[in-house]
Amino acid sequence: MEHVIEVSELTKRYGDTTAVRDLSFTVRPGHVTGFLGPNGAGKTTTLRLLLGLNTPTSGTATIGGRDFGAARRGLHHVGALLDAQDVHGGRTARAHLRALAASNGIERRRVGEVLDEVGLGDVAGRRIGGFSLGMKQRLGIAAALLGDPSVLVFDEPLNGLDPEGVQWLRALLRRLAAEGRTVFVSSHQMSEMELCAEQLIVIGRGELIAAESLGAFAARGGSQGVRVRAREPERLVSALLAEGAEVVPGEQSLSVTGVDAERIGELALREGVALGELTPLAASLEQAFMELTADSVDYLTGEPR
Ligand code: ADP
Repeated sequence: MEHVIEVSELTKRYGDTTAVRDLSFTVRPGHVTGFLGPNGAGKTTTLRLLLGLNTPTSGTATIGGRDFGAARRGLHHVGALLDAQDVHGGRTARAHLRALAASNGIERRRVGEVLDEVGLGDVAGRRIGGFSLGMKQRLGIAAALLGDPSVLVFDEPLNGLDPEGVQWLRALLRRLAAEGRTVFVSSHQMSEMELCAEQLIVIGRGELIAAESLGAFAARGGSQGVRVRAREPERLVSALLAEGAEVVPGEQSLSVTGVDAERIGELALREGVALGELTPLAASLEQAFMELTADSVDYLTGEPR
């Protein structure tokens, strides 16, 4: 598979620090895959290994079955944005992209196209040094798109974007994936990913926590109980308590845990209680993410980044 990212038993140590430990996962084309983990989890390290910018201590990270660093297939195959700040401030956006295009054998007209695509057409002649972080992110994305690659790898691209920019980028990522590309995007915030990623790779302390669909990940958060509104709740509450349920009365409704919605419906029918609402509550993705990565966050609190 030409466009598949494959990470296999990947380990990277820096002295005493193991940044990535025995990590294995696959990223396929056709949908956005979010690469999630708290700060310091090892996301950037993994992406740098994948792009051949660092060498693994052991294991492999390949794109299309090949070691990308050694294969040197360039911007036509893989477009990447790692550090948006890592650009020459004295150049204009246009000059920066033209230089990149020239050194990669890419037609000059692509420069104008990608600048328009990322919304920098109007500032193409301005020096990058004066750009905000959000503008630099857009420029980095333009550079990644220059070669019209089938694989895109972005490290925290939503960082520094304003709300309009975030919406724009989500739509762009989804479109790139819908075109059949492999789109692998890191973030330390679930909220950034839940509206655009279909698949998730979640890591903590350099180790794999989950590799699955967004839906499967959300289900890990477990049930938050059932919200019930009943006209005469007293009889229902007694019946629920007799079933071993826990019932917390709210202003308009009851919060019920310990029995599922179907059973609550049956009990209401049996007791002749009319229900105004019967809603199973799912835990949010953010909750699932926080719970699953809680250990790795504690471990790293001494390391501000
Ligand atoms: P993330 O991108 O998820 O925030 P990183 O991959 O940047 O995480 O970092 C993972 C761990 O590896 C951190 O503990 C970090 O301090 C460490 N690390 C990363 N790069 C280096 C390096 N060049 N030298 C030493 N330690 C590093």
